[in-house]
Amino acid sequence: MTPPHSAEMPYVIPPAPRTTLPVAGTDALFPVRRLYCVGRNYAAHAIEMGHDPDQEPPFFFQKPSDAILCPGQAFPYPQLSQDVHFEVEQVLALGTGGQNITPADALDHIFAYGVGLDMTRRDLQSAAKSKGRPWSAAKGFDHSAPMSELHPVSDIGHPTQGAVTLHVNGELRQSGALEQMIWKPQDIIAHLSQLFTLHPGDLILTGTPAGVGAIQRGDQMQAHIAGIAHLTVPVI
Ligand code: MN
Repeated sequence: MTPPHSAEMPYVIPPAPRTTLPVAGTDALFPVRRLYCVGRNYAAHAIEMGHDPDQEPPFFFQKPSDAILCPGQAFPYPQLSQDVHFEVEQVLALGTGGQNITPADALDHIFAYGVGLDMTRRDLQSAAKSKGRPWSAAKGFDHSAPMSELHPVSDIGHPTQGAVTLHVNGELRQSGALEQMIWKPQDIIAHLSQLFTLHPGDLILTGTPAGVGAIQRGDQMQAHIAGIAHLTVPVI
């Protein structure tokens, strides 16, 4: 079947630029496709949000890929919220994709790891939850996903243990560890690949440990995962 358009046809408006992330130790860029997020993947965070850390399957939401804030950029405090929270999370960057990926094969699809922040307008999220409405405005707002450089598996392997921390103005606010994740990266990829066909360039934020809290303009957030990456983000 002939497609109704061709790559040679001009655009009527300029196409949006592709979101990219730097890859540590190289001059090359990682081209981002989609950004998936896992909810409630650390028991202590599920409890602090008022949920049982049961063994239900993982659940997912998305942020637009152009909501990514590149390393070195400041986080602009968003409108329409008085309660913007940080959530420090491990980032998986897929180099290959597929459908119905098995846990045994899943790690082979990870090209790199990083650390990211799932910034959340908590007041809008609470209102959405109470009305059974979607989380898009709470989770997917502009600049809502600050990300570190990506560190290739060829350099760091597949870290399964290590402290996950978030400091604000030098004070420790979130403290967890990769080994506390309920669903491990291979489980997350297996589940997600049943819901969506995964592709090279997809990023996955894997959930946050306990201790989430609010930031203010002028704060400085420092996200760290031992053995993976560090990220400093000023709030403006
Ligand atoms: Mn999160």
